Amino acid sequence: MAKVYQATHVGKVRHNNEDSLIVIEPSTFVVADGMGGASAGEVASQMLVETVKSFLSKSPAPWDENILAQAVLLANDKILNLARRQEEYRGMGTTATILSLDGEQAYFAHVGDSRLYRLRGDAFEQLTADHSYVETLVRRGELTPEQARVHPMKNVLIQAVGAIPELFIDKDNFKVERGDIFLLCTDGLTNMVEDATIAEILKTAQSPADALIRAALEAGGKDNVSVIVAGVD
Ligand code: CA
Repeated sequence: MAKVYQATHVGKVRHNNEDSLIVIEPSTFVVADGMGGASAGEVASQMLVETVKSFLSKSPAPWDENILAQAVLLANDKILNLARRQEEYRGMGTTATILSLDGEQAYFAHVGDSRLYRLRGDAFEQLTADHSYVETLVRRGELTPEQARVHPMKNVLIQAVGAIPELFIDKDNFKVERGDIFLLCTDGLTNMVEDATIAEILKTAQSPADALIRAALEAGGKDNVSVIVAGVD
């Protein structure tokens, strides 16, 4: 029912790809952007996607937003425990953005500054809010979204999976319409490419995941970039 494209790229500047992404049947998509020194970011994001996958495989479908949030909480415990046990993993964490489609229903859960977008007709909408310091300032009216995009503290998260014991997970559900196109992506895309350009690529590209990666690289590719695109027939 959903046509799915996915791609990830280390970018042009970094040496490691700390992003992880996974497509879990049926129609469930996860992106995670890890952070932490050495290889800790990769460990955290990988642990997130693997924990979500194994948790969901043991849960009866539909995987609604509460089940998705439980999976994230389990990953939070696991990453925290590993970071406590091993010095080199201290302070690691990861974003988590998960979308699960079940017939006409969509469910999502979200922590951090990766994003879920929906293109419906001409309306391109970000369905998740960034858990970032600059987003807090935007909501208070102290920064415009344009200022936030280039702010020196734009990478500072107010929470991440595996970084704090008391995690607040955004979660919601909504009705899917035929023709909806969903995009899950890490900030390596959204920091490099404007929303309007992203929407245009989703509308026109034959191979949208590859085209989005190419756009991020052409804009400088300063970060790892990961995308999953799911189009609903
Ligand atoms: Ca990133």
